[in-house]
Amino acid sequence: MGEFDLIRTFFTRPVRRAALGVGDDCALLAPAPGMQLAISSDMLVEGRHFFADVDPRLLGHKALAVNLSDLAACGARPLAFTLALSLPRADTAWVGAFAQGLLALADAHQCELIGGDTTQGPLNICITVFGEVPAGQALLRSGAQAGDDIYVSGSLGDARLALEALQGRLQLPADVLAATRQRLEAPSPRVALGLALRGIASSALDLSDGLLGDLGHILTQSGVGACIDTRLTSPLLAAAARLPLDQALVRKCTLAGGDDYELCFTAAPALRAQVAAAAQASATPVTRIGSVQAQSGLRLLGADGEELLARFASFDHFSA
Ligand code: ADP
Ligand code: MG
Repeated sequence: MGEFDLIRTFFTRPVRRAALGVGDDCALLAPAPGMQLAISSDMLVEGRHFFADVDPRLLGHKALAVNLSDLAACGARPLAFTLALSLPRADTAWVGAFAQGLLALADAHQCELIGGDTTQGPLNICITVFGEVPAGQALLRSGAQAGDDIYVSGSLGDARLALEALQGRLQLPADVLAATRQRLEAPSPRVALGLALRGIASSALDLSDGLLGDLGHILTQSGVGACIDTRLTSPLLAAAARLPLDQALVRKCTLAGGDDYELCFTAAPALRAQVAAAAQASATPVTRIGSVQAQSGLRLLGADGEELLARFASFDHFSA
């Protein structure tokens, strides 16, 4: 199959909300009056973000999921996305399965594929998503205020735990491996929670590189510090949390694991009932894990309330 057959067969679908989809030099989006476009790109590179033999359906899902997670963090509603794809060869079974996983998640969020680029080369997937948010209502990293509560959604560390097991550093029971591997390979972007937090959260971001490092971005951009109680940091899925795991490993996975795709956000203590209502309305568990402080820096409280060293660096592609 040639480039244009691949595009026609797998990536051309009728568009409903966009003004123009695949097939011309540009796609056209018509944002509703009073809305701002929220735009984000994420790239997945073989050997860096996924194993070469990963199930293509899961890869398609994850490539879009990590992008939708950025829209969720801004409280934006997904509209459309573009797909830039570099493929070693035109393997139609592989591309078909990839498209299936990708477009199933796209349909679930009514997010349309409106264009892209297809070339031959090392396997590399770059998606750009477009969302909309009422002007001035996007959730930003810069809005945290001293005294705010800090929350995370869902559970943290599952993806990292699965990665440790898949790389042979740890043995997990089959059911726990399956559940945590699902979190690693098919994360669920917290779009509904992000929308529900508009007007409630003072700041937000999605957790892709580990809680401590990512929270650090909120603190830096808001000019504040924080205290996190590690006893509250919702460690791991319930099934994994029941295992007799080394607590240092659990802490590493939870605080600095990466690939969580949960939301971390802050909100004024006066809004606790509204946060709970947003969690309920979006059917997403949220946990309060600490508070924002005027004094800069991140303090961590350990199992007995003692202060820990915040030495769990998060992932950085260009550090050792
Ligand atoms: P151009 O050369 O003008 O940039 P292309 O020949 O690369 O356009 O692509 C033709 C059309 O197919 C364009 O509308 C482009 O957006 C779309 N397209 C290319 N690759 C993909 C893809 N992987 N997914 C969706 N649309 C794609
Ligand atoms: Mg062109």
